[in-house]
Amino acid sequence: AMATMLRDDWANPSSVHRAGQNVRHRIDLAREAVGDLVGCRDRELVFTSGGTEAINLAIRGSLTVAPERRLVVSSRLEHSAVRGTLDRLVERGEIKVHWIGADLAGRLDLDELDDVLDAHAEEIALVTLLWANNETGVVQPIERIGAACHARGVRFHVDAVQCVGKRPVTVRDLPIDLMSISAHKLHGPKGVGALYLRRGVRVEPLITGGPQERERRGGTENAPGIVGFGVAATEAKAWLATSDVDRVGPLRDEFERRIVEALPDTSVNGGDAERLWNTTNLGFPRLEAEAILLSLSERGVSASAGAACSSGSLDPSPVLLAMGIDPRVAHGSIRFSLSRETTHADIDGAVPLVIDVVSRLKALRPP
Ligand code: PLP
Repeated sequence: AMATMLRDDWANPSSVHRAGQNVRHRIDLAREAVGDLVGCRDRELVFTSGGTEAINLAIRGSLTVAPERRLVVSSRLEHSAVRGTLDRLVERGEIKVHWIGADLAGRLDLDELDDVLDAHAEEIALVTLLWANNETGVVQPIERIGAACHARGVRFHVDAVQCVGKRPVTVRDLPIDLMSISAHKLHGPKGVGALYLRRGVRVEPLITGGPQERERRGGTENAPGIVGFGVAATEAKAWLATSDVDRVGPLRDEFERRIVEALPDTSVNGGDAERLWNTTNLGFPRLEAEAILLSLSERGVSASAGAACSSGSLDPSPVLLAMGIDPRVAHGSIRFSLSRETTHADIDGAVPLVIDVVSRLKALRPP
């Protein structure tokens, strides 16, 4: 679909000529498909350059429309798109953030959330929290959190980047005002995402210019990306309606079980909480995540650690540290992701490689 857009349907969707209107129509269909996937009306969606921009629009756009409210409530478990944005606003003295704590399994402290909402509802511009964590897969009780916000008249943004496409989401039935999503987490292209804005919820645009996206995001649309997003959304919706979801969930559990059986000091980070079926975060104490990742990569297994690589060494993931995980475990923690395309043969192939790589590195470890 994207190749056709690049090769044939390259006209500007804002042009009145037939070629432009054809592209406009393709964008409209993509918006309907994404709306259908998340359960909202197409006009409630603003296409963006990805999850990060959607999150920035939600946070910064909400702050601008409520200048008298200078407190944001979030958590240290958030993706850097949220954490980094809030840290920067705090550094500039523009806002204060109340960071909600979490337990060792990565579950947010909801009593703390209730307390801060009770004490400061009038000052809070936004509560912004993750639905499913990108490093551990831990799922937060978004309905309970949204209800608590709405009971105090507080606006609620959800980073649903990891959830959408992996479990059914019907945002219209949930107490959510804004929701960020990203195409590349559901087999779509990188560099395109969307912000859901419940009808009547206003944000100040980040990108001003033309009237595109109902004056909420200026600039000629990324038509190939948006059309690719639409196709990915249609396919994800169709997949979610099948029973295949019951096939892939147990694959992750089997992967974990076989590794923990062979390497009993392995910890499953977030394993005691409800998790998304596709993510597993395994901690191998006193090993370096980077060494494991490089050895696995050489043997054809692509995994990642939570934090970005800085000057050749991996810092332990701030998310795992915020959960209170021992830094010696956090240092040796690896995230493996499955997808709807993962097969039992993939698990059979990866498990012995992981066990072998970790065992070899353990043998080299100083006593
Ligand atoms: N939020 C979460 C939970 C993510 O996993 C990601 C992924 O990268 C993002 C936000 C940012 O999305 P994007 O990469 O589309 O900017």
